[in-house]
Amino acid sequence: MTAISLGSLLYEGKAKRVYATDQADLVAVEYKDDATAFNALKKAQLAGKGELNCQISARLFELLERDGIPTHYLGMPQANWMHVRPVRIVPVEVVIRNTAFGSLCKQMPIEPGTPLDPPLLDLYYKDDAFGDPLLTDARLERLGLLSADQRQQLERLALAVNTSLRRFFAAIQLQLVDFKIELGFTGSGDLVVADEISPDTCRLWDLQVADAQDRILDKDRFRQDLGGVVEAYGEVLKRVQGACPNPRLGK
Ligand code: UDP
Repeated sequence: MTAISLGSLLYEGKAKRVYATDQADLVAVEYKDDATAFNALKKAQLAGKGELNCQISARLFELLERDGIPTHYLGMPQANWMHVRPVRIVPVEVVIRNTAFGSLCKQMPIEPGTPLDPPLLDLYYKDDAFGDPLLTDARLERLGLLSADQRQQLERLALAVNTSLRRFFAAIQLQLVDFKIELGFTGSGDLVVADEISPDTCRLWDLQVADAQDRILDKDRFRQDLGGVVEAYGEVLKRVQGACPNPRLGK
């Protein structure tokens, strides 16, 4: 870390630890090597994964900021550490799908690989104890998590993230199949993109590879026991590095 001193552990999730620091407007996020899937029923340690996800995520946050999309990101002081603004995470996972795959094809009669235009936006209630269920409008309203205005803002931001990421990934020969983001409110009440954006949270297919398994460069390699998870994430970082601004160091 730089001049910032770490304080107490505020939160430990499946892939990251969040620490307070000696600065009230900054928290430090440590990306871990733990890999989990299927609501943590499947677990492994993948050496190097935390660093790769942090490196990829930092550059994608740089890209979003450059495109005028507000995020919690402040910089990357070390390979697997990120500085971010403290936010109150909205317990809603926003999934945008450009191509049908994964849970969508298990729940609806849509062939995997079907293009979705316009993209499909799904909201899930972020709570492992309930298995992150799909939200309906009525359930979201019942939970009272967001006002109508805030929901509109959240969806607008998520769609802007999709436009930005999709264009960026296409230019480095990666198909952005779908992704999940989380958003949070800053102390001053602004809604910003938070959490991480990495091959753990995005489905990315190599446009230069035709084989349906070999082209997978994301967490599905872990979910489906395809092997080469860290190598795939490394390939994503290599391409992202070549096309994205270098991450700022943080405070
Ligand atoms: N996703 C995620 N965290 C979750 C659930 C989904 O990052 O808790 C991502 C997932 O990697 C994929 C997208 O959201 O890029 C859509 O996932 P889907 O709903 O298809 O669920 P899955 O098939 O992964 O169970």
